[in-house]
Amino acid sequence: MQNHTEKAGMPRELLDFYRDLRAIQDKYYEECRQALKSSGNTRRAGAESLPGPLLHRVKPDFDTRRFTDAFKDITAMIARRRPGLKGIGGIEQIPGPLLSQSFAEVVNSLFNQEFNEKFTETSYGKRLSGAVDADTGLVEFIFINTVRPFLRAFARSLDGDRFEALENSSFCPVCGCRPDMGRALKHNGQRYLHCSLCGHEWLSKRLLCPYCLNEDHHLLSTITVDDIPGCRIDACEACGSYLKVIVDETAGASGLPEMADIETVFLDIVANQKGFTNKTFY
Ligand SMILES: [Zn+2]
Ligand SMILES: [Zn+2]
Repeated sequence: MQNHTEKAGMPRELLDFYRDLRAIQDKYYEECRQALKSSGNTRRAGAESLPGPLLHRVKPDFDTRRFTDAFKDITAMIARRRPGLKGIGGIEQIPGPLLSQSFAEVVNSLFNQEFNEKFTETSYGKRLSGAVDADTGLVEFIFINTVRPFLRAFARSLDGDRFEALENSSFCPVCGCRPDMGRALKHNGQRYLHCSLCGHEWLSKRLLCPYCLNEDHHLLSTITVDDIPGCRIDACEACGSYLKVIVDETAGASGLPEMADIETVFLDIVANQKGFTNKTFY
């Protein structure tokens, strides 16, 4: 293990943008959570014992029209903040049925893959990206951020369920996506991985790269930022990836802070400067 110390700052405008985004996501998260609760079909008998992510096995009944509304709200917020953004007008014109079909297809086919890879592979994802004269990355960004509150509501609906989370897995046992961050418990050093899509957390060995599963401690390092305590970067020299980790001093009583990913953007800058790249994608 090697240790490094760095200093860095945080862009204000970015934080404001993500606060707006988060407010929209929270609204739809709450609506979807209520809908899943009242529909009572968030669980399929015996599904927990089958292989694969729970999302595949349980197949929750998401309201695709609500998804379309959320997509349009997020697009409108971006258009309001960045009126001249190339292609944003075209994205606002994407027909609702194409959006809801894309959502259904992508959610039903997620499995041990990065979300954006899956998105661009699916036929509707292709159609969606090709439907507008906009950067594919922008369409993907809006789409993924629209999917998030729905999968977060699904993951939350499973709380209290007894299913065996796969420890040390590279992929989320609930939705099959990659982790974007980690949470380390200060009192015992355990590290949990946090899903980039649904927010579920699962236990992972401290000395293990969640992206390439390297366990050679000579190739694993920790980077800390001098003036910002309570967080660190777990980096892997075998695959060049890094994981941002929040140190949790509450003895595991709380999850990651809501804006943890954005509030620690300085860690991304430090990691990038050291030559490590983000392998989360989404
Ligand atoms: Zn997940
Ligand atoms: Zn690695």
